[in-house]
Amino acid sequence: MTNTDEFPAGTFTVDGAGARFVDLPALFGDRLQQLPHVLRLLLENIVRCMQGAERQAAVAAVFDWLEQGTSEAEIEFQPGRVLMHDTTSTPALVDIAAMRDALAEAGVDPARLNPVLPVDVSIDHSLAVEAYARRDAPELNLGHEMRRNRERYSFLRWASKALQGVQINPPGTGIMHTINLEQLATVVTTEQREGSTWVVPDMMLGTDSHTPMINGIGVLGWGVGGLEAQTVMFGMPTMLRIPDVIGVHLTGSLQPGALATDLALTVTQRLREIGVSGEFVEFFGPGVSTLTAGERAVVANMAPEYGATTGFFAVDGRTLDYLRSTGRSADQVDRVERYTKRVGLWFNADAAPRYTRHISVDLSAIGMHIAGPQRPQDLLPFGAARASLDALNFKPGTPRAPYEAMPRHPVAIAAVTSCTNTSDPALLIAAGLLARNARRLGLKVPSWVKTSLGPGSPAAAAYLARAGLIDDLSAVGFDIVGYGCTTCIGNPGPLPTVIQAARAAGAIRPVAVLSGNRNFPGRVHPDLDLGFLMSPPLVIAFALAGDAERDLGVEPVQVTAEGRAVFLHELWPTREEVAAHLAQSADPAEFRRSFAIASRNPLWKALAAPDSPLFPWDPKSTALRRPPFASLDQGSQLGRYVAHPLLVVGDDVTTDHISPASAIPPDSLVADYLVERGDDRHDLNVFASRRGNWEVMVRAAFHSKTLVNLLGPGMPVAHTLHVPSGDVLPLWDVAERYRATGQAVVLVAGERYGTGSSRDWAAKGQRLLGIRAVLAVSFERIHRSNLIGMGILPLRLPAGVNPQTLRLQPGEQIEVDALADAISPRGEVTVRVHRLDGSIQVLQATAAIETQREVALLRDGGVIPSILKQSIPHG
Ligand code: SF4
Repeated sequence: MTNTDEFPAGTFTVDGAGARFVDLPALFGDRLQQLPHVLRLLLENIVRCMQGAERQAAVAAVFDWLEQGTSEAEIEFQPGRVLMHDTTSTPALVDIAAMRDALAEAGVDPARLNPVLPVDVSIDHSLAVEAYARRDAPELNLGHEMRRNRERYSFLRWASKALQGVQINPPGTGIMHTINLEQLATVVTTEQREGSTWVVPDMMLGTDSHTPMINGIGVLGWGVGGLEAQTVMFGMPTMLRIPDVIGVHLTGSLQPGALATDLALTVTQRLREIGVSGEFVEFFGPGVSTLTAGERAVVANMAPEYGATTGFFAVDGRTLDYLRSTGRSADQVDRVERYTKRVGLWFNADAAPRYTRHISVDLSAIGMHIAGPQRPQDLLPFGAARASLDALNFKPGTPRAPYEAMPRHPVAIAAVTSCTNTSDPALLIAAGLLARNARRLGLKVPSWVKTSLGPGSPAAAAYLARAGLIDDLSAVGFDIVGYGCTTCIGNPGPLPTVIQAARAAGAIRPVAVLSGNRNFPGRVHPDLDLGFLMSPPLVIAFALAGDAERDLGVEPVQVTAEGRAVFLHELWPTREEVAAHLAQSADPAEFRRSFAIASRNPLWKALAAPDSPLFPWDPKSTALRRPPFASLDQGSQLGRYVAHPLLVVGDDVTTDHISPASAIPPDSLVADYLVERGDDRHDLNVFASRRGNWEVMVRAAFHSKTLVNLLGPGMPVAHTLHVPSGDVLPLWDVAERYRATGQAVVLVAGERYGTGSSRDWAAKGQRLLGIRAVLAVSFERIHRSNLIGMGILPLRLPAGVNPQTLRLQPGEQIEVDALADAISPRGEVTVRVHRLDGSIQVLQATAAIETQREVALLRDGGVIPSILKQSIPHG
């Protein structure tokens, strides 16, 4: 450590004792204020964590960035902690268990392999809405969850015992990002370094794309794939190019009726409009000060929807208010204030740092909005749902009997769900007040609507109860269904029977309304391809209307039994009412108390958990199997080879298409595989719950009804064409045939390949199918990184070339010239398309590689071989 030599450290008092810190203003003077806050934080990390000449170069590169607002330089980043959820942690921990086996087989003590950073795992993604509109729904749904996931959860219990530093937050404690906001984040923390205590900014990474929610309270963090998380948890830095930073200048203040959700949807649309793709976003200007930290967190949460890596708000008085309101100690709040002011990280509403680009958003001009029906960036005034649905031109079959009471586009699911919009108490209080007004007028939700309220943390139940709103929500069907991701992650449980029947008869095309962040076809439910995103109170209003086409701006929400038309403005609470109920229900101690009670989950404590450094795999298990890629004999996939295109797909292929998370269809090949091994065809749980079993997941790869394989029209789900036989077979079978004959395979895709979530199984599935390279027009950031983490080379097609212009015919092959010694970040890679007529089309593709470290990973064969290599003692 040479901090004191090159970069003198300051001293700071913590708990009455002196602590050291990186004194950014003393080191860098006025230039510091020109940097966006996110770069100041990365700069602090560089100074503290990098060494010698590399550190000097990285610091210089950060200030060089000021010239153009962009940089090609790479820097290291070493976060202080890692956050995961059950579906991303299970495969990561299964990998670690398998790596321990591999080490033991190589004669190395497996207990040597432990994360070196704290890892918090929330079990939140597997809660499904089986029971709803009843008071005991949380217990019933939790019981279902524990029963369905027993084996996987026992494994997680094993991991928390066997692996140092892994803390599991059991089912019922809430959604990871809400827990991060309310419990885990310190904003400013301490660490031990070279025998001294250092005061440092709380910086973290999470294996979930909505990790930036924590940016709402000034904590720098973003979503990464499970593989990148494994890298940092084993003490290796992650590398990143110094990011372009988009500034969003906020002016004005939100007007009555507009909520944080409306702002988040507006920002999403505005930033997608300018083509944000992987940049860091930071909010600045006087409008920031008018937003509560809860509102900022809603906006920060949707960073992946606006294409960004972060959605950062610096610390100010509102941040401190939030920390106090969630029970942080006075000492902690004081430390955050003193440190951020001292080191130049405190927000200044008048400052305008250098940004790569910036846009302005006038908060005063934002109205009520919805977004959809198939993409979060498709912002609509909420009265415009009809026009957007009309454009789909759905014509119900005739006759409509017996479904004539149902509208053409009924609301099938109305879910107040998601960390996005259930973590800010103001939004749930607003929903409760709307429910109260509806209850007073005797309004009821139509029978075809499945209602649910799934808050981000159990504290919500307490503050809603203190505000006297639980009974009102219950009266309109919005009983709490549990504390987890539920509908947001595609676990809404079955659709109402009447919806299923009417849909099967062609009488309706149902719609979901939800306070989530994504509405891609099939995301919420495999049989729903339409969904509108909106604020929690609007979800309840649309549930009452029962009709997704209703223009609630001018048409009544409902007509009462007495014939009285009730309009939205009669139900909508005022800002003052919301504020009064918030104040009445506030109890800072509640957040810790509710979390502590939920953490004592007796069903969790009763789970058996093996007590051994190696995990005892059960050969009959259909939940957990040792993955073949976590072994010492996995080599690099680079090289020069001629490959068959295993799949050719178009634009906007999401990680949901590549590796679905939703319910396993009972009539699928995956179901057949599981049933053959003793599982019940009608209780197979969701794909996401099987990520510990690679044999399931490889069969689940590309299992999507909406994915079109351009290799041949009308192929069944997850099938492709084998050449030269011409057989159309399940992907896995075709991949196995090619593997058996030693033939390489690649995948060809359009724009934004891998949009969506951070799930590393989207990359692992492709590796298990033998895919050596993905040739796409463009890649979504996290998926690109995950492909590299699995040793798959991402290649950008040259301008003007895409799957449609390539027109690959069955039997045509692709030659990739990517020798390990020759590849480099953004380097050219020659691709030759061997046509059926014997001609060869030569393309200069670009390696979608950002850093030298990524090159090294590809040369090692991916993250796992790399970790194994460093775990084996030399000599
Ligand atoms: S965005 Fe949805 S799925 Fe993701 S953590 Fe939040 S609630 Fe869960």
